[in-house]
Amino acid sequence: MRIAVLAGGVGGAKFVRGVRHAMPDADIRVVVNTGDDLWLTGVRVCPDLDSIMYALAGVNDTERGWGRAGESERVSAELAAYGVGWPWFTLGDLDLGTHLARTSLLRDGLTLTAATERLAARWPIGVTLLPMSDQPVETHVRVADGLVHFEEWWVRHRAAVPALGFEQLGVQSASPTPEVLTAIAEADAVLLAPSNPVVSIGTILGVPGMRDALATTPAPVVGVSPIIGGAALRGMAAECLAAIGVAVSADAVARHYGARSSGGLLDGWLVDTADAAAVDELIGDGIRAAARPLYLTTLDESAAIVRSALELGLPRR
Ligand code: GDP
Ligand code: CA
Repeated sequence: MRIAVLAGGVGGAKFVRGVRHAMPDADIRVVVNTGDDLWLTGVRVCPDLDSIMYALAGVNDTERGWGRAGESERVSAELAAYGVGWPWFTLGDLDLGTHLARTSLLRDGLTLTAATERLAARWPIGVTLLPMSDQPVETHVRVADGLVHFEEWWVRHRAAVPALGFEQLGVQSASPTPEVLTAIAEADAVLLAPSNPVVSIGTILGVPGMRDALATTPAPVVGVSPIIGGAALRGMAAECLAAIGVAVSADAVARHYGARSSGGLLDGWLVDTADAAAVDELIGDGIRAAARPLYLTTLDESAAIVRSALELGLPRR
């Protein structure tokens, strides 16, 4: 079985671990948001690719929620002493090793896809990580004073500066990679992780050609709600949804993606049991919907969510 997953960083990583646990023999290809990428202190940082790689390799810092476990910050302290970089965006020493290796590969002429394959080859992660595009696309946030990089709005301002909108710089000249198009076209099922609908999944969908690829794949497309009982579990999906005028609810996000039968994306949508009341109306809108516990806590619970999503997409399996 071939499964393609669209995912952002930390939420995406928890979901993909569930996919791997539920379907250990499947060919799992993860299309990852690269809109958070940036050049910082001379190196290319790809936050979502690294969050997934570290989590699947089991070397992520589960307490902090980002970066490598057992991390030190000697290099960052030196950079700060020189006044180079963003003092509020600490890159750990082990993490910097990843960014240096990636930058070296990119400077040798590898695409981001090829560089990512080389980095991931070090770890037995059991899935293929595919950047959504090899062309740089960087999400910026429109605030009252102008545009700031997404990571500055997110990490420095903790999303407290009101976002007026999001812009994907570079997106006009970006395209999905051939690897991404193949993964979607040849999948038996396409799953949307419960990642941020605006700045993770939304960014991936914004790459010209991505929506067409999803519309034309013979595979069912099933999403898992990142919103439970009217709130985002972690992260700032609520602030992001507000900025684009979408209500913070499981069914509003489903309608934002839209039913595939009426020009949208979704064949199916899983909501949490807290949102069971939304199921009938979503079915009426042409989206196969079901309510299941959607907390990605243990591996077994995450795998159960994945199985439910697959059953919704492939009911005769
Ligand atoms: P980021 O790139 O690191 O911000 O992470 P993602 O975009 O992949 O995921 C962030 C989203 O994951 C947030 O909007 C959360 O609502 C969602 N999320 C986090 N934990 C869970 C969970 O246990 N269950 C569900 N359904 N969603 C979750
Ligand atoms: Ca992210």
